Amino acid sequence: MKRQVKIMKIRSNKKLLKKALHAGNCKKYTTKILNQEKEIFDLKQLLQISKSLNSVLEFDRLIEAILYIVMAQLKTFGAAIFTKKSFADNLFVLNRDHYGFDISRDVQYSINVDHPLISFLDKSDSGHTPNEIRQNIETDKIVQDLFSLKPSFFVPLKEKNRMIGFLLLGEKMESSHEFTDYEKNIIENIASLAAIAINNSQLLEMSTTDIMTHLKLKHYFFTLLMERLDTINSSDSKDYLSILMLDIDFFKKVNDTYGHAAGDIVLEEVARIIKSCTRNVDTAARYGGEEFVVMFNNTTPSAAMTIAERIRKLVEDKVILYDGQNIEVTISIGVSSYNFDNESAKSIVERADNALYESKRNGRNRVTLSEKNLPKA
Ligand code: GH3
Ligand code: MG
Ligand code: MG
Repeated sequence: MKRQVKIMKIRSNKKLLKKALHAGNCKKYTTKILNQEKEIFDLKQLLQISKSLNSVLEFDRLIEAILYIVMAQLKTFGAAIFTKKSFADNLFVLNRDHYGFDISRDVQYSINVDHPLISFLDKSDSGHTPNEIRQNIETDKIVQDLFSLKPSFFVPLKEKNRMIGFLLLGEKMESSHEFTDYEKNIIENIASLAAIAINNSQLLEMSTTDIMTHLKLKHYFFTLLMERLDTINSSDSKDYLSILMLDIDFFKKVNDTYGHAAGDIVLEEVARIIKSCTRNVDTAARYGGEEFVVMFNNTTPSAAMTIAERIRKLVEDKVILYDGQNIEVTISIGVSSYNFDNESAKSIVERADNALYESKRNGRNRVTLSEKNLPKA
């Protein structure tokens, strides 16, 4: 009997012990599970970030996307990115898109790639606070200008161990002023995804842009135009699309009179005028030597004619000073619009080209609308 009682006692103790152990373990495991769930959540976020950054190739839109992601993920009131304007450049320049910083108009926020701050940032992947920077390098005017923006963190943007820029984080939203190691790890991951995306975007930009005029190249223009037509054809709403073909009048004469170098300056100036009449959603390209083509999104034939006339007038009024001489040129333009009839990209551009030919035939320095887009009488 006594033995029975003893066994029962042991059994109930065991149960209690099991319960106690279970409770302790539960707490431990709950914390562990919560931490792992957070890690899984953060990894999923990173995957999402990677997907969204890889889907944006256009540089300005990419920078904007990175800034939003950084501010949302790292909970900061601001973010800014410094990158080179081109691969051959020696300066990291503040991108025109930035949030939450008090930018002074009198300061040029740029820093040479050889500056000690850059070498210091290059040594780490996760970044530094202004205090850490202060303790490690001398703070000259350039660094002081950056510090005056009151950033909370400097993060290098590295692609294959090469620094392609850096990120400034603004004030943290949460009260603790230092980033934890876990947060620094997230910053490092986001920065490396951002750096790859920026590098890809810059490579694409370089390989699709005409060096002289900074306009897109013809083959890339056609890629974008075909993509746009696909989008329009697969959507229910009628988004207008118009094409302008432009050709400088008697350009050969400009070369013959003022020299080829002067001709190049004229080409650059005309390209600048064309670009100034386009929005971010439009695409201007150099079609050939002194020929240009522009795709205007959400633009009706009559709106395209108005823009074409504006460009024609701006070119006509422009006096280009070269080597003490005033050069004036005019431009002929042809306009066509998509008629929602499955017409090919090639055919729409051809119609603009035919309209351009009409402008030339009728005396140059004028704008002609493709016959197919003329309002029905
Ligand atoms: P039109 O009014 O009929 O268009 O006459 P045009 O003289 O402009 O036309 P044409 O096609 O006879 O001549 C185009 C000239 O453009 C010939 C070529 O030397 C010049 N050209 C093409 N590319 C460049 C360039 O990159 N720089 C310079 N300076 N000239 C170029
Ligand atoms: Mg010409
Ligand atoms: Mg020509």
